[in-house]
Amino acid sequence: MKITLIQGDITQIKVDAIVNAANSSLLGGGGVDGAIHRAGGPAILEECRRIRDRQGRCATGEAVITTAGKLPAKYVIHTVGPVWNKGNDEEKRLLRNAYINSLLLAVKHGVETIAFPNISTGVYHFPKPIAAEIAVAAVKEFLAQDNRITNLVFVCHEKENYDIYSELLSRN
Ligand code: ADP
Repeated sequence: MKITLIQGDITQIKVDAIVNAANSSLLGGGGVDGAIHRAGGPAILEECRRIRDRQGRCATGEAVITTAGKLPAKYVIHTVGPVWNKGNDEEKRLLRNAYINSLLLAVKHGVETIAFPNISTGVYHFPKPIAAEIAVAAVKEFLAQDNRITNLVFVCHEKENYDIYSELLSRN
């Protein structure tokens, strides 16, 4: 198993699947969600709408999969991270679920290479160091049990997250 860390724009990464930090409406938003829909084109939103019509909103910690439209990736996995509320609403468990459920959906679709943004650390205000610890622990645990993912990329948009991940990943 291989974990890679880069600083950049997740829409540019050529992997089987990129993960989107979506909101439960699945109808697009700001931040990484907006960037993915802008760069991937309308096919992604069309498929999100069909999923919504079929199953309703996406619950926090759950994930759905769509085409990646014009992006270099094959799929976008849309997961909904928790909004930080001082740790009172099981946000840590829900953030972990967002990573694990994205990975479960990925392997179900034959994905071998996957890129994650720093879910919930933008407008959802999850404290970055805690979010990074949860993300790294969750994916390491998953990859240790399931060898179908050959490369997992953490894509940090900001230097602050990049530095946090860099330190965490060098530690163990
Ligand atoms: P959330 O609502 O889950 O907090 P945001 O999109 O606001 O989602 O932020 C999640 C993370 O995505 C933030 O760390 C933000 O810096 C990062 N981000 C924003 N644009 C991009 C991008 N193009 N590629 C990768 N990460 C991005």
